[in-house]
Amino acid sequence: MAELEGLEFGKSDFVLLDEVTMEQFMENLRLRFEKGRIYTYIGEVVVSVNPYRQMDIYGKDTIEAYRGRELYENPPHLYAVSDAAYKAMKRRAKDTCIVISGESGAGKTEASKYIMQYIAAITNPSQRAEVESVKNVLLKSNCVLEAFGNAKTNRNDNSSRFGKYMDINFNFNGDPTGGHINNYLLEKSRVVHQQEGERNFHSFYQLLRGGSEETLAAFHLQNDPAVYVYTKEGAATVIIINFFTVISALEVIGFSKEEINSIYQILASILLLGNLQFESDGESVQILGQEAVNQISELTATEPESVSKTLLYRTVATGGGEVIEKGHTEQQACFGRDAFAKALYERLFGWIVGRINTVIEVKDYNPVLHGKNTVIGVLDIYGFEIFDNNSFEQFCINYCNEKLQQLFIELILQQEQAEYQREGITWQHIDYFNNQIIVDLVEQPHKGIISILDEACLTVGNVTDTVCLDSMDTKLAQHPHYTSRKLSPSDKSMEFQKHFRIRHYAGDVTYSVEGILDKNKDLLFQDFKRLMYNSTNPVLKEMWPDGQLSITEVTKRPLTAATLFKNSIVALVDKLACKEPYYVRCIKPNEMKSPMLFDDARCQHQVAYLGLLENVMVRRAGFAYRQPYARFLQRYKMTCEYTWPNHLMASDREAVEAIVTQHGFQDDVAYGHTKLFVRTPRSLFTLEQERAAL
Ligand code: ATP
Ligand code: MG
Repeated sequence: MAELEGLEFGKSDFVLLDEVTMEQFMENLRLRFEKGRIYTYIGEVVVSVNPYRQMDIYGKDTIEAYRGRELYENPPHLYAVSDAAYKAMKRRAKDTCIVISGESGAGKTEASKYIMQYIAAITNPSQRAEVESVKNVLLKSNCVLEAFGNAKTNRNDNSSRFGKYMDINFNFNGDPTGGHINNYLLEKSRVVHQQEGERNFHSFYQLLRGGSEETLAAFHLQNDPAVYVYTKEGAATVIIINFFTVISALEVIGFSKEEINSIYQILASILLLGNLQFESDGESVQILGQEAVNQISELTATEPESVSKTLLYRTVATGGGEVIEKGHTEQQACFGRDAFAKALYERLFGWIVGRINTVIEVKDYNPVLHGKNTVIGVLDIYGFEIFDNNSFEQFCINYCNEKLQQLFIELILQQEQAEYQREGITWQHIDYFNNQIIVDLVEQPHKGIISILDEACLTVGNVTDTVCLDSMDTKLAQHPHYTSRKLSPSDKSMEFQKHFRIRHYAGDVTYSVEGILDKNKDLLFQDFKRLMYNSTNPVLKEMWPDGQLSITEVTKRPLTAATLFKNSIVALVDKLACKEPYYVRCIKPNEMKSPMLFDDARCQHQVAYLGLLENVMVRRAGFAYRQPYARFLQRYKMTCEYTWPNHLMASDREAVEAIVTQHGFQDDVAYGHTKLFVRTPRSLFTLEQERAAL
């Protein structure tokens, strides 16, 4: 067993603080960070501070030290929570999940990878080939998802630009048999535009910088990201993942040569599309550069004439049932080109995830023969975002965080209360701020912001962003968590007529409505869908099933981006709600990616909006640890003369009482029907130290 830490490393559980104040919390967090102790508990929740340097705490020995142990037997670690989630799943056949949250660059994705590596390391001791292969695919999928879903941003060189939820399925032996990945809201606008200093998705640079001369020639590409409009912004930055590592990961997962080729043909088409320009002579619009059109048609297995036509015209059904072709303006053609490029990438990403899912999906599972199939879910999803300019994307992401916060409240409280009730322990109810009211503000049918946005998008005629804002102001004027400049005219931080503000549980965020309706409509001319559906490349065709419909058959308006996102988050929350949750709360210590700097103000802000202080309070009001009497006895009977080597008492419970009394922490415990409840971890640490000293 690893040595328990001394006090010079601070308190390993915030529940042990002398007083629950922000000052004490921050002091402990800083001390531990400075001493290289990046993990600290709040009961079973792990608080993690990004060390921004390689730590020697993830090796085989460490894995062995945590394997099968209880949380408090070792210093805080991701491995301990992973083990707790795994044990709960295996011993009690419970589905569990590990929810990782925190802002960009806080270390969520790294944490999710360590968790998966731990689970892979402790399972399948008999090395069965089919289980090994499932584990391998699960681990390799990270590399592929990062290549296509991550990008360099100003906050994180390897920022996940999508949310990820991965279920890992286990058989009755506790070995992985498969899994399923859900992806959320890929930031596709990045395909066509990046902020200064940022890059497009890694995959483009991997191809351009890493592809061989022949490969690039076959895709009509040059090996310089600076020549492509879509990649020139980040052209100078070095690559993070090697092209061939990704190709080999794709191969291991089971993508065929043709499929891998198609993936890169699509990337090449996107790059070539980005360089297409249009010219108007006042009457009609032309494409500049027929050669690029020919190349795109070759790469997408379509006819050059169809590509040109789709870029320049859209098919419209008139009121009288007539179908006509309407020429684009130059501006519409540019809009269409970019929308097409974004959609190509988004569908490619979705298709890759789907393809991985078909490989890892549990096949031929018979619950009668094989016992219950249990699941551990791992959620790595964007944290709260408050920028100088917040738009539709931040609105969606912050709504998602409200939903997850609500779940956190419900699950933690519910779970605690249910357990106390079962065990016959009295417990004092703790009041939380219930953020349901903010969730309603966003998602309520008819009255919520999403409904108002959708209504504006569906209204025929020219509803502008500001008209939509007016409508929100009218409908939401009375809402305590909503305001705008018009409603609070003295507030100078909001530009008149362009902004609204939501009082989120994590703080106030001002959103701009500029472009919000376009983003919500997420319009892609139908003609592009038909063009892709008619491709003779089966992979492309498969990605565009909705292109099957002709113009007269397309009657329904597609759901808006906000509604699609809402539906996916509601489904995610439903999935998480029926699992036993474990939490990892990640904190970013500074903006400089420095291993030395602990920026107090930045950290305190994160502690506040992650609700960590409230979390400590709840933990302290309840009982931090609980353990069945028999197991407690087994571990600590040697620390008490009445129980060593065996007790002569009427029950295990009485024997446990003897141990507790001998060590003098009877005021720190409660006795349930089957378990001992311990209020603070201090008592257990004392016992652990005594045990180690024997
Ligand atoms: P985003 O929301 O942008 O995806 P994230 O929370 O997933 O951010 P990561 O990509 O996991 O952040 O971490 C950012 C960087 O911080 C990593 O690339 C790595 O350099 C460093 N880092 C994070 N966690 C650790 C760790 N445990 N040990 C060493 N370095 C780490
Ligand atoms: Mg990430």
